[in-house]
Amino acid sequence: MTPTPPRALTIAGSDSGGGAGLQADLRTFFACRVHGLVAVTAVTVQNSLAVSAVAEIPAGIVAAQIETVATDIGVQAAKTGMLASAEIIEAVAKACDRVDIGQGGRIPFVVDPVAASMHGDPLLHKDALQALRSELFPRATLVTPNLDEVALLTGIGVRNRADQRDAAVALVELGAGCALVKGGHMRDDPECVDLFYDGRTFTELPAARMDTKHTHGSGDTMASSITAALARGMDLPAAVRYGKRFVTRSVRAAYPLGAGVGPVSPMWRLAQEDPAESGP
Ligand code: PLP
Repeated sequence: MTPTPPRALTIAGSDSGGGAGLQADLRTFFACRVHGLVAVTAVTVQNSLAVSAVAEIPAGIVAAQIETVATDIGVQAAKTGMLASAEIIEAVAKACDRVDIGQGGRIPFVVDPVAASMHGDPLLHKDALQALRSELFPRATLVTPNLDEVALLTGIGVRNRADQRDAAVALVELGAGCALVKGGHMRDDPECVDLFYDGRTFTELPAARMDTKHTHGSGDTMASSITAALARGMDLPAAVRYGKRFVTRSVRAAYPLGAGVGPVSPMWRLAQEDPAESGP
């Protein structure tokens, strides 16, 4: 019998195109050798070009999914993606408290403050930003915003590395344990530098900027690979370095899909062994 692997929970929306959202999270968890659990928050009608409709899951059902898997199966780390509404955010916060997820509890909690798709389609109601700040930031072990999300949450428009540091400090002042300010959207920078801040020290995580438009799901993949590493028992600085390597290689392995933006792909992780083609 195979021993039970570590478990990671994603609290996230579904992308019918299979590129981002919970589909990216589960693929990443699998590639990172952890069992993935899901609390679905919303179903998006989405392809490589746009999000054309969203159906939200009732907040009580979102909370019940979290509690039912955490109490039976057990969770070693959790993350959030698309949360859609203030009502869902409030239900997630209460459910996390009940099962020990977040800064007050024993289970590390990565909050990816998803606000919009890369095409600009909204994935969070405007009036839910305050709930994200007040309910989830104080519970977050780590927040992982991109620069658009930083501007919405802190009002800081990041144009250079100094602004990136100011943003990291502002995010921790909002209550997050640590912040990872992703620099991918700083397009003038020849490198793609993410900044990790633990409340005391700054660590820059550089990677070469890649010339590809296929980056759908990169934010989700970064947050879920960090979450998987935490579930496997790494400490936060090691998990963040692992996530940076994981997402960089996934962007390198991205592929075109449909007429628009293709997904980053963790399949490089599995390319060595197709279990049905090799072995007994
Ligand atoms: N769709 C869903 C359900 C998501 O959760 C996300 C990101 O978290 C996206 C789309 C957007 O991904 P991207 O910004 O990479 O297009």
